[in-house]
Amino acid sequence: MKTIIEPFKIKSVEPIRFTTKDERIKLIKEAGYNPFMLNADDVLIDLLTDSGTSAMSSKQWAGIMDGDESYAGSKSFYRFENAVKKITGMSYIIPTHQGRAAEKILFSTLGGEGKYFPNNTHFDTTRANIEFTGAEAVDLLNETGKHPEIRADFKGDMDVEALDKFINKVGKENIPLCMITVTNNSGGGQPVSMKNIREVKDVCKKYDIPLFLDACRFAENAYFIKKREPGYADKPLLEIAQEMFSYADGATMSAKKDALVNIGGFLALNDEKLAQQCRNLLIVTEGFTTYGGLAGRDLEAIAQGLEEVLDEHYLQYRIRSIEYLGEKLISAGVPLIEPPGGHAIYIDAKRFLPNIPPEHFPGQSIVCALYVEGGIRSVEIGSVMFGKYDKNGKLIPPTMELVRLAIPRRVYTQSHIDYVLEIILEVYKNRNNLKGFKIEYEAPMLRHFTARFSELN
Ligand SMILES: *Cc1c(COP(=O)(O)O)cnc(C)c1O
Repeated sequence: MKTIIEPFKIKSVEPIRFTTKDERIKLIKEAGYNPFMLNADDVLIDLLTDSGTSAMSSKQWAGIMDGDESYAGSKSFYRFENAVKKITGMSYIIPTHQGRAAEKILFSTLGGEGKYFPNNTHFDTTRANIEFTGAEAVDLLNETGKHPEIRADFKGDMDVEALDKFINKVGKENIPLCMITVTNNSGGGQPVSMKNIREVKDVCKKYDIPLFLDACRFAENAYFIKKREPGYADKPLLEIAQEMFSYADGATMSAKKDALVNIGGFLALNDEKLAQQCRNLLIVTEGFTTYGGLAGRDLEAIAQGLEEVLDEHYLQYRIRSIEYLGEKLISAGVPLIEPPGGHAIYIDAKRFLPNIPPEHFPGQSIVCALYVEGGIRSVEIGSVMFGKYDKNGKLIPPTMELVRLAIPRRVYTQSHIDYVLEIILEVYKNRNNLKGFKIEYEAPMLRHFTARFSELN
C-alpha cells in the first residue's frame, strides 16, 4: 500500500506563529488556564474544533466572487438548492446561517411542553433548542457506544429496541419526530450503520413518526459505511449518502462541518405544510427564503463544498489521517476512545491521569500541558464542560473525562499531524508531573467558555 497523500496542492498559505515554551507558560496563565481565552494568534496548531474551520478550495473561492447577492431568487440560492436536493432527495430546502438556526426553527415549530425527541445522542445545541421549548431531549445510544475502550464498527447506532419501548411508554402522539445524528458527535464522532438507519426507520414507520437526520457529518458517515458495512464497498459515496437520506423525512445540517465552509446551514423537509410553517418563522428570524441569514456567496460556497466533500480521495485522506494519529497513540499506550471517530481524537483523561480526581479536572490539566508543550489548542469535554454541583456544592462529574483534538478539514498536513503526535507523547511521558486545577471564576451557565483556573500544588 502506498502512502495516502493530501489530495490537493496548496495555492495560498497562511503563516502560523511560533512562540517559546516560556511565552506559552505566561500566556496560558494569563488566560486563566482556559484555552478559550487565548488569542488564536498565540496558538500554533488549533484543534479546538472542526466547525467552520475548513480550508475552502479554489473553486469555492471562485464561487465567492461569483455569488449573486440579489435579495430574492438569487442564482446562488438555486445552485445551493440543487446541490442539497441532489444529496438529500428532499423537496423543500431552507437555508439558515448555521446548524442551530435550523434546529431553532424546527423545534420552535414542533416542540413544546409534553413533547419528546429521541436521538442516538443529541448534540448540545440540539438538546438546548429542544429544552428551550419545554420539550424533552432523549438519548437512546446502543450499549457499546457508551464504553470508550470497546472497539466496534458502528458505535453511533441507536438502540432500536429502546426506541420501540420508549415510544410505547410516552405515546407516539407525543413524539413529533425521531432524530439520528451522523456521525455521533457527542459520542466521539462514531458512525451509524445503514442497517441501523433502516431499522430505526422501520420503527418510526410503524408508529407514523417522521425520521430526521442531524446530517452535519453525513459524508464522513457515508465513508465509514463504505469501508465497514457489508454490501457497500463498491458503491459510490454519493449513492450511499442518498440512501442514508432516503430513509429520512427531513434533515438539519451545519454546513460548517461537511459542506467545507466557514458559515452556513440548512433545514431540508419533505412535508409541505411543515416547510411553510418553518419558512414563515425563517423570515422573522433569519431572512427571506432564498438566503436565510447568508450572503449569496456563502450559498455558492456551500453548493461547491457539498460536491467536493463526497470525493473518495478526500474522505480517504481525512479519515485515514485521524486513524493514523489514533493508531500511533494507542500503540504508545495513550488511552483514547476506540476506534478513533471521523473528525477528532478523544483522549480518555481518567485513564491518562488516574491520580487526578474529576474535581481537580484531569482533562483541563492535559489541555494546558498540550498548549505549553507544543502550542496545540484542544478542549476539555468532562467535568469542566458538563460537571454539575449537588446541594452541598460537591461536584457531580459526567461519566467521561475527555480531551478532544478536532481536526479541521484540509487545513493541516501530515507533518502537522506527526508534530501533534510527538507533543501528545511527550506530555504522556511526563504525565506524572501534571497537576490538578481549581476553578477561580465560573459563569452560571456554559462555564467552560469563560472559567478561570489556578494550578494546584
Ligand atoms: C455543530 C453541530 C450542530 C450545530 O451547528 P452550528 O453550525 O454550530 O450551529 C448540530 N449538530 C451537530 C451534530 C453538530 O456537530
